[in-house]
Amino acid sequence: MKKYSIGIDLGGTKILMALVDKETGNVLYHVKKKTKKHKGPDNIIKKMVEGIEELLSEKSINTDEISSIGVGSAGQIDRENGIIIAAPNLECYNLKIKEILTKQFNLPVFVGNDVEIAAIGEQKFGAGKGCDDFVCIFVGTGVGSAIVKNGKIIYGATGTAGEIGHTIVDLNGRQCACGAHGCLEAYASRSAIEQRIEGALKKGRKSCILEYLEPGKSITSSMIQKSIEREDELVLQCVTEASEYLSGGIASIINFINPKLIILGGGLIEAVDYFYKKTIKKARAKSLPVPAEKIEFKKALLGDYSGVIGAAFLEDRGF
Ligand SMILES: [Zn+2]
Repeated sequence: MKKYSIGIDLGGTKILMALVDKETGNVLYHVKKKTKKHKGPDNIIKKMVEGIEELLSEKSINTDEISSIGVGSAGQIDRENGIIIAAPNLECYNLKIKEILTKQFNLPVFVGNDVEIAAIGEQKFGAGKGCDDFVCIFVGTGVGSAIVKNGKIIYGATGTAGEIGHTIVDLNGRQCACGAHGCLEAYASRSAIEQRIEGALKKGRKSCILEYLEPGKSITSSMIQKSIEREDELVLQCVTEASEYLSGGIASIINFINPKLIILGGGLIEAVDYFYKKTIKKARAKSLPVPAEKIEFKKALLGDYSGVIGAAFLEDRGF
């Protein structure tokens, strides 16, 4: 077995690339670049190629010591052909990423989505280690999830299973980025909380979060956490509301799939413990009694690295 693999987590704001030791899952070196999606897909490819070259030269490793390159991307993915079909967050459409990187480095290339790679990372070396039956939920700009059953990710008929963010929690509810109304993501994501806080501020509500805001910049998870530590009424109200919806979504998963474990991750979960604790408590309370008693909750353990580590193991999928 070759000792190393390269994992790439391609997101709307950054591209994280890592050289991963396949035996230990350790990240030996990483490179982070801004996505700058407005510059187009060619620029994204250029940054990925430069990043891979940097990983190899920094650790003086030849491509013959690398078993594969794994890429996890936001958006809809054609896994078999390694194509990003549509990723609005990246402004990439029909991007033949596998073909391009294979030509460039003459290595096997595997492509998956961003939640899938994070779940694989947690499964192999994080909170899901030793468990072959769990659901991973990541809360950030959106709400994404991956279902692991018998140790394998469930992809569904069109490869889109696990879209918990687009389960409908309010029939006449808020418009979601996907075009539908009342999706969980429009209520429980960090962006949803941000919009609620901003809307209230515009109406003249007072909040200490104003002290952290910078013009033109969005509200971050750490600003939310700082405001909660100061028991800010508005922020507490918006976060509590989001956790009410998220816990409903999680209770539905518990009742519907009956997993052993639910792993929660993403910026908002990592930074805001109040949100995590409140959500899991309510999710248990809203679930049917039998699964509610047994369900286990854990926070994701690998943070930013879960995606790159998981991407390095996409090759185990075999396609
Ligand atoms: Zn939606």
